[in-house]
Amino acid sequence: MVSPKNTPEIKLIRTAYKSDAIAADDLNEQQKAVVNHRSTKLLVLGKGGSGKTSTLISAITNRISNGEDPNSILAITYGRSSASKLRDQIAAANPKAHTVNEPIARTFHSLAFMILNDPINISAGENKKYVLLSGAEQDAQIRELLAQDIKDLSKTSWPKELIPALATRGFAKELREFINRATERGSSPDELLAASKKHQQKYWPAICDFWRRYKAVSALKDLTPSNSIIRIDPSEIVIEAVEKLESNQILLEKYRKLFKVIYVDEFQESDKAQRKLLQLLSGDELVIFADPDSAVGRFRGADPENLLTDLEDSGIKNKITLPTVYRNIKEKNVVMLASVSDEANFIAHQFRAAHLRDGINWSAMAVILRSPGAQVPALARAFAVNSIPVEIDAAALSLADNPAIKPIITIAQIVLGQLKLTPANWEQIEELLRGEFAGADAISLRAMRIALTKEQKEGNQNNSTQLILDHLTTSTPDLEWQQLTPLKRINDLIKEVKKDYAKSKDISDLLWSIWSNAKNYEGELIQTYWQQQAIDGGRAGAVADQNLDAVITLFEVARRFSQRLLGGGAALFIDQLLGEKILSDSITATAQKGEAVSIMTVHSAKGLQWRYVAAAGMQEGSWPNLRQRGSLLGSERLVEIFRHGISNAQQLDAISAAGLVADEQRLLNVALSRATEKLIITAVSQEDNQPSRYFEKLAPDEIKISSRQRAITQPALVAELRRMAKDATGEQVEFVSRALKTLASNGVKAAEPRNWVGITPPSTTSPVITDQEVLRISPSSLESFTECGLKWMLEQSGGRDADSTAQVLGSAIHVIAAQLKDDPSLSLDQLESKLKGAWSLIDMNQGWIKDYEYRRASLMLKKFYGWNLENKNTLVAVEEKFEFKLGKAIVSGAIDRIELTADNKYYIVDLKTGATAISKEDARTNKQLQSYQLAVVNDGFKNKLDHQEVDGAQLIYVGDHKVKSVQERVQAKVDAKEVSEQISQIALEMSKSSFIATINDRCRSCAVKSSCPIQPNGRSVITP
Ligand code: SF4
Repeated sequence: MVSPKNTPEIKLIRTAYKSDAIAADDLNEQQKAVVNHRSTKLLVLGKGGSGKTSTLISAITNRISNGEDPNSILAITYGRSSASKLRDQIAAANPKAHTVNEPIARTFHSLAFMILNDPINISAGENKKYVLLSGAEQDAQIRELLAQDIKDLSKTSWPKELIPALATRGFAKELREFINRATERGSSPDELLAASKKHQQKYWPAICDFWRRYKAVSALKDLTPSNSIIRIDPSEIVIEAVEKLESNQILLEKYRKLFKVIYVDEFQESDKAQRKLLQLLSGDELVIFADPDSAVGRFRGADPENLLTDLEDSGIKNKITLPTVYRNIKEKNVVMLASVSDEANFIAHQFRAAHLRDGINWSAMAVILRSPGAQVPALARAFAVNSIPVEIDAAALSLADNPAIKPIITIAQIVLGQLKLTPANWEQIEELLRGEFAGADAISLRAMRIALTKEQKEGNQNNSTQLILDHLTTSTPDLEWQQLTPLKRINDLIKEVKKDYAKSKDISDLLWSIWSNAKNYEGELIQTYWQQQAIDGGRAGAVADQNLDAVITLFEVARRFSQRLLGGGAALFIDQLLGEKILSDSITATAQKGEAVSIMTVHSAKGLQWRYVAAAGMQEGSWPNLRQRGSLLGSERLVEIFRHGISNAQQLDAISAAGLVADEQRLLNVALSRATEKLIITAVSQEDNQPSRYFEKLAPDEIKISSRQRAITQPALVAELRRMAKDATGEQVEFVSRALKTLASNGVKAAEPRNWVGITPPSTTSPVITDQEVLRISPSSLESFTECGLKWMLEQSGGRDADSTAQVLGSAIHVIAAQLKDDPSLSLDQLESKLKGAWSLIDMNQGWIKDYEYRRASLMLKKFYGWNLENKNTLVAVEEKFEFKLGKAIVSGAIDRIELTADNKYYIVDLKTGATAISKEDARTNKQLQSYQLAVVNDGFKNKLDHQEVDGAQLIYVGDHKVKSVQERVQAKVDAKEVSEQISQIALEMSKSSFIATINDRCRSCAVKSSCPIQPNGRSVITP
């Protein structure tokens, strides 16, 4: 342990922030007028990039440097991150005089929150603290109440057609939207009910009824004597603060005195309640900055259309317009790509090139998306491949979709019984097993299936998928640890978590139990491993850093859930998390990312700027997104009814559609005005995913799909240099060699020629089998070697695929067919029922694939049965093993069927389940059949046969479903001497030091093609 004496001194250093304040000499005339403005209300208008926020910071700086008390100044903006950034910038602009009691920059919500929790209210008799509910938490409350409604519909007034929707997440969300919009407009359930008659809205009475009960239940919860908090919705908080100020003169006076000067940025985002609050608090020292063309919060109640008239009505007479837009984009690229992944790679390539060639900092670049979606993981992947550090804004990635959180959620779902362990959920379980918490891959999963199937108890007819699922929660069989490692890890974790959950049902405890017990594939605690990686830095460190941030956020969201929804239950939390598409309202502190490219939604990008910006994903249907929000209950219609006071449904729909178009246009303006130097606009062109009208408007008349570009990374550079080295001549040789040498001497191993597979000489030229060694060969390998010597060699050395379903199926048919030997009276139905019984063990596929494979197997069995009925020979042995020596080789194997002909000679039959039969001519010299015949002649069966006379052999094919009966390929009796010589020769060839690759019909499906020098993708084996 480290003693206090030895503890190194820790010094906290504030991140250096560069202020956006404009130096006094650089202010333009209008900006100067704003900075020096005093004593009357002022409205400042300006487009994106005209320097509104910078002027605001300069104006506050000017006041502070002129001796005004920073505590008397309030700056209001929208969004918590914008407020925090504004705070840092004001502090950076006033390094010597920014000591304040309260933060200078706030949002309206945080201002209202401060007013509601002011001690004056406590002395006025209220001793409870207000806490703000997030949208997700509100949904959870609404869902709880709707669940009660469903249990007893007689106490509700929901119309019949809405009843099926009551249990859905979407309905709760629409209901929340509707209630919030009505609340923001100062309405109450009774007022809305009265309005419903006037505007002939048939769902409003039922909603009002629900809203009344919702308010009553919430109030009841807050009234509990033991409860010391009042939960409040975001839509209510400002209204509640206004009411408090209006009803308490002392409170109002306090804040009017406190904030002598108020600056408001982004005022176009304000709603009626916020304007009212501002009106109550502000005196003449009020400066408002706005740009009505870039309002993005209309769906939350912002009212940009009436902004200017409202301000004039409230007595703001002075107006200054900032005329100069400083974001003069020098370069605009509009690019169309073939897929989302190409689009992500293109942007990553552009940013990496800008960073390496033009020295643009990572933090000076951003990708802006319309909404969270499939682009986020694709971008994260592309940026990781291109070694670009990235910071994904919380709003662009839902917490439940975060790869670091997913396994935790899955484990919690299993423990809570929310995720049934059935093959239908295999995809999610497989993701868990293949993830960092278990560490399985395709091969280990397959090995697991085989191991579990072998261990399966008699009578248990579950397939291997179900066996894995079962063993997640039951004890694992007594097998070698290595065979089941990933499964055991998860099994152990679930066991531990279940134990902990039995002691505490709290969601935070449940998540903590998962987090603190989870281990990675090496048995190391995930939390320790990620922490260490984050400290070590680098690319892996950046990923670990993000993972830790996500976990901290998860805990914070869970803590808030427990605090706000008393008795909410862990299952409700998980359900809520999975239903939330946007990570709502997280207030967790995350690690400082420093230099990283930002990925964010256009709503989050508001008020920010970067040197390079990519506006990605301009697809039809998503950007613009003209789908009506709240289409079932009509929250948008409600807003328009309040705005325009009309009832005509068609008129209302037309107005809200026009409103949506205007909203989307403003969002586009915001996205396109974030870059100061370069703007990249991208979209994907696919059959079912076309670029949007916005993209087409921005793109040149003739635009083609751009091709994928080579990554500007170290491995890609080495690959390029190696390619160049091959064809280099003259001076180029010198250049390439020097470049590779420089890279190699700087630790790039791939640049060292001795590490290039194709260039190194053979490690040995000795024969694979020496004269003293014995070569063991199987009849099938004789055939394989005759086909292609290299393939045989590589397969013998491990280059073989695991057994496919087709191979397992073939073995099953063999086993069932062989049962006719012991009981020739078995009917086809009996054989079929044996096949059916064994099927779940044979086929690991699901759904229609499984049915298809079963039908194939059943047909094969039918064909074989028919052939067997017609067969005149007598069956003597099945699956009979043999072994005989030939020169330096031992030939061994097993024969499917040995029969006796009418003239008492042995006849060999080999059953084939493959779909394609070999030609009749090839069958005549087939080495496998020849060696089987030789086994009889050479008495390979150790006296089991009465004599050594053989009359020929045949292959019977049952796998081709285009033909109704079996296909027979016959081979005449062998010339034993000739075939023995041939096989001895093959054995000699097999023992040599080199092997020939021979192109043949089966090259297409060859498992070792990528190591075959005569195939394009295997050429690197012999060429540099
Ligand atoms: S691809 Fe063809 S030639 Fe190459 S190893 Fe495979 S079978 Fe032989």
